[in-house]
Amino acid sequence: MALRNIRINDDPILRKVCKPITEITPRIRELAQDMLDTMYDADGVGLAAPQVGVLKRIVVIDVGEGPITMVNPEILTSDGEQTGSEGCLSVPGKFGIVTRPNHVIAKYYDLDMNEQTIEGTELLARAIVHELSHLDGDLYIDHVEGELHDVSELSEEDGSGE
Ligand code: ZN
Repeated sequence: MALRNIRINDDPILRKVCKPITEITPRIRELAQDMLDTMYDADGVGLAAPQVGVLKRIVVIDVGEGPITMVNPEILTSDGEQTGSEGCLSVPGKFGIVTRPNHVIAKYYDLDMNEQTIEGTELLARAIVHELSHLDGDLYIDHVEGELHDVSELSEEDGSGE
């Protein structure tokens, strides 16, 4: 298990466009495993390579249904709408309200370079859109409705979070 440093806030690497992966090398496998380890360690549901300083098109997601590693992912269709709170491991201690599609179909390559498709609704759809956006330097804070809130404001409520 190897944890990588998560890039945060104004780190310029978070705003770069990532390059496609052309070959699954041992280094890419190691990166994917490290990204999962780092995501679980930070209690996240997704992590994209630029968040650990690597400008390659790979993300990991686990919304509680097991780990998914997506190489060169692309959204094929998205529809519906969901509005809810969203956070990011690269913007620690904050959350904001973002409207995302409620249903997404995406294609990607797995670590054997086999093409896969994934269909997600609700949290999985939100996670797919959020993580894939990272690959183009797009952060959720660009899409927040109203203000970005401190997570500490949440704990002052009655704790009945989503
Ligand atoms: Zn994020």
